[in-house]
Amino acid sequence: MHQYLNFINGEFVATGKTFENHAPVDNRVLGLVHEAGEREVDAAVGAARAALKGDWGRMSVVKRVELLYAVADEINRRFDDFLQAEVADTGKPLSLASHIDIPRGAANFKVFADIVKNVPTESFEMATPDGGTALSYALRSPLGVVAVVCPWNLPLLLMTWKVGPALACGNTVIVKPSEETPATATLLGEVMNAVGVPKGVYNVVHGFGPGSAGEFLTRHPGVNGITFTGETRTGEAIMAAAAKGVRPVSFELGGKNAGIVFADADFDKAVAGITRSAFENCGQVCLGTERVYVQRPIFDRFVQALKEKAQALKVGPSEEPGVGLGPLISAEHRAKVLGYYEKAKAEGATVVTGGGVPDMPGALAQGHWVQPTLWTGLPESSPIVREEIFGPCCHIAPFDTVDEAIALANATHYGLATTVWTQNLATAHRMAREVEVGLCWINSWFLRDLRTAFGGAKASGIGREGGVHSLEFYTELRNVMVKL
Ligand code: NAD
Repeated sequence: MHQYLNFINGEFVATGKTFENHAPVDNRVLGLVHEAGEREVDAAVGAARAALKGDWGRMSVVKRVELLYAVADEINRRFDDFLQAEVADTGKPLSLASHIDIPRGAANFKVFADIVKNVPTESFEMATPDGGTALSYALRSPLGVVAVVCPWNLPLLLMTWKVGPALACGNTVIVKPSEETPATATLLGEVMNAVGVPKGVYNVVHGFGPGSAGEFLTRHPGVNGITFTGETRTGEAIMAAAAKGVRPVSFELGGKNAGIVFADADFDKAVAGITRSAFENCGQVCLGTERVYVQRPIFDRFVQALKEKAQALKVGPSEEPGVGLGPLISAEHRAKVLGYYEKAKAEGATVVTGGGVPDMPGALAQGHWVQPTLWTGLPESSPIVREEIFGPCCHIAPFDTVDEAIALANATHYGLATTVWTQNLATAHRMAREVEVGLCWINSWFLRDLRTAFGGAKASGIGREGGVHSLEFYTELRNVMVKL
């Protein structure tokens, strides 16, 4: 049986304490994950600290950039290994992982290597009180040992999105992948060794959150900063751990994102865009749309069109051609999503489509499948409209005016993303200015440029990463003042 080992100081480390990793498509056991205890976490932190003082710490940025390019190339060379590992762990369609997850996993190293290599720092000349001059300039040094705590929905993509800039800035990292998706972070250890990244620069510890590797890592005093992607509640626990020692955090958290469709939108494009934003990755995307608001003149037609799109989605295993919807990640997560499906009915929602479990043949019947689901008719106060479900479902409600659309979009404690569909420039810009989110898409969704800022407002996160913004978290800026 496959063994997922920890990766500490360039070595794969077994612990003997294992838990099973299951395939979401049929719940078969994929392998055994070796859970890291305090001892292994301590060893990983020690290795990462030593690497900061060793070859890695002394390496020029030019050489670092070369190594990170080599990491990206090696991921691409082993593309199929990463693809198979990611798809087995998540159950997502092969087409999705091969177009988004794995290519972005490689790109995250190249893009941030380039950014770090090319970013300037400021310098000023000033007059001094004695009539002379002084020159001040800024130096960036690494934050230090960075803990990278990851979710399961886009495992390689979201992990490398942190590891790429962290390493480019000269830090060392300890990754704690989700207990649901241990494979690609482990595989990345092989890549690091293959291209000659020094020992201790990249480490992986497996396990859970509380009472396990996640907690041990985030409260470890040898960790200088924590970058985390996951649920808002987990973010609160990690923030409490980070308070000890006043260590900085960068958080990308949950959302309850609105999609706003105006009557003047390009109808077909809006339907296609909202379909994608509600159902891609089986709705397990932090940026996904779970609240759709449609201007009243096109409301009925839009609901009907979205219903047809949802019903046309092919549900099935990753490699089956044309599959648009995989399973949810785990039995536990499916129970949560189905709980909301039941709650919606109990609250009197009109179930436009879905609301249950699809019939799957043979072994697939053991997988964590749910139907893509649309509801209408619930009040804004309903938990279905307020709470993040993280499944292939959304509630659709009508609105009349721009003011109303803004108020509806903002009536949540979250603030991650909004997608707006309109052909009216003034409406588009007004929405962009007034929605309380970190990301606002106009006539698009999930379009990303890694040079731009990414993050959430309100309870959806702390800080921004992406482009030069990543440097704000992964480096300490030192001012040097030279009296001339
Ligand atoms: P999660 O918060 O349950 O777990 C994320 C990681 O944190 C896992 O590795 C887990 O083991 C670890 N963890 C849990 N409790 C911990 C603790 N007390 N201390 C330290 N580590 C702990 O999230 P998830 O279920 O894996 O992912 C889904 C969530 O992630 C959703 O809420 C989604 O919106 C969010 N997400 C946000 C973004 C974003 O960019 N804003 C992106 C992807 C996912």
